Amino acid sequence: MADSPFLIVGGGIGGLSAGLGLARIGRPAHILEKAPRFEEVGAGLQVGPNAVCALQYLGAWDAVAPHCVSPAEIQVRDGMSGKVLQRLPLGSGFEKQFGAPYRVAHRADLHNALLESARSKPGLEFQNNAEVTGISVAETTLSLKSGKELNGAAIIAADGVHSGIRKQLLGQPGKSPIGHLLHRGLMPIASVPASVNVDVVTLWLFPGGHVVHYAVSNWRHFNIVAAVEDPDVSLWTAFQGACQPLADILEQKTDWTKWPALDFAPARNWSRNRTVLVGDAAHASLPYLAQGAAMALEDACVLSAKLGERSDIPSAFAEFSELRFSRASAIQKKSRQLGRIYHAGGVLRRARNAALIAMPLRRFTRQVAWIYDWKPEGK
Ligand SMILES: Cc1cc2nc3c(=O)[nH]c(=O)nc-3n(C[C@H](O)[C@H](O)[C@H](O)COP(=O)(O)OP(=O)(O)OC[C@H]3O[C@@H](n4cnc5c(N)ncnc54)[C@H](O)[C@@H]3O)c2cc1C
Repeated sequence: MADSPFLIVGGGIGGLSAGLGLARIGRPAHILEKAPRFEEVGAGLQVGPNAVCALQYLGAWDAVAPHCVSPAEIQVRDGMSGKVLQRLPLGSGFEKQFGAPYRVAHRADLHNALLESARSKPGLEFQNNAEVTGISVAETTLSLKSGKELNGAAIIAADGVHSGIRKQLLGQPGKSPIGHLLHRGLMPIASVPASVNVDVVTLWLFPGGHVVHYAVSNWRHFNIVAAVEDPDVSLWTAFQGACQPLADILEQKTDWTKWPALDFAPARNWSRNRTVLVGDAAHASLPYLAQGAAMALEDACVLSAKLGERSDIPSAFAEFSELRFSRASAIQKKSRQLGRIYHAGGVLRRARNAALIAMPLRRFTRQVAWIYDWKPEGK
């Protein structure tokens, strides 16, 4: 049993980073992905200092870094008046404070870099068209759609927010009924209107929605995500009355893709015996803190450390789940709360804006420090 591979279900950011974590402690693993190819859909990801530290620990940062963009600052702006409410410079002071830089990346670049790093590790094997349709937790066995059965030393379920293994482990998945719709656009950087500042990460707050945009892919593309509370209204209706730079960017001709914003209510105990949930399958959050992928990367580091310390896999999994619960659930809860603050209208909007404008940078930085100052053990 000791030499049987771990079985990792899902080859997204969570599954590949879990594989890298296992390679770090010399444990073999098979990564099973249902899609015909290992690839990431979607566009941008903010890679905060905690995610950078996790990538360094997993040995993938050198492959990721060349594809990232280094933004000058994060700006929070009111989407109606255009007023800058708060700014967080991301230069050397920020980097010194958190021990790692803040970057933004195209998801495909991050995913490809993880894949490239994982493929270079002995002991990791990859299978596509390998959809897992059943699991026996007692036997540590997976059934594939092809009819094949696989037995491993343990199972790591990184099968995302629609996880079938979560359903089996925890009962109903309890997906969020929040109802927000996310619109995502990607355009060549040369098409970005002149009124838009491309070297900052901008967060526009608007009644009933918000928009985030930044450059990705080493400055070749510009990523925009707009969250809208009412899924039945068009993007243009939702942001009617937007100030000029925001209206300019939303009016750009680009192919918008849409999908529902999903999360889980926090749930404890992601492990049973030799099976454990990681990444979105364990603790999907709304993307309003931009921390879902970062949490999956952190999971991989903590899981690797616990498995490296303990030969007893069920105990290592239980300890991992216990250790990660409070942080992951804080991200889930805070992301929901931020949705309400970002989307406030009327008197609440005015109070929020006044509070943000009056807030000294040091206090603003302290409010996000708990997210960014995470470090893997021993770093
Ligand atoms: C709009 C948006 C913006 C975001 N921005 C950020 C950000 O800025 N920063 C950040 O850190 N995070 C961000 N996130 C969150 C982040 O994208 C996710 O948290 C992260 O990708 C989750 O990775 P995962 O591997 O757990 O799940 P997934 O990426 O969903 O991967 C699951 C994989 O499992 C495979 N799979 C599923 N079922 C099976 C099966 N039965 N058998 C085999 N394979 C299976 C799937 O095909 C998939 O490849 C954002 C999310 C959204 C929606």
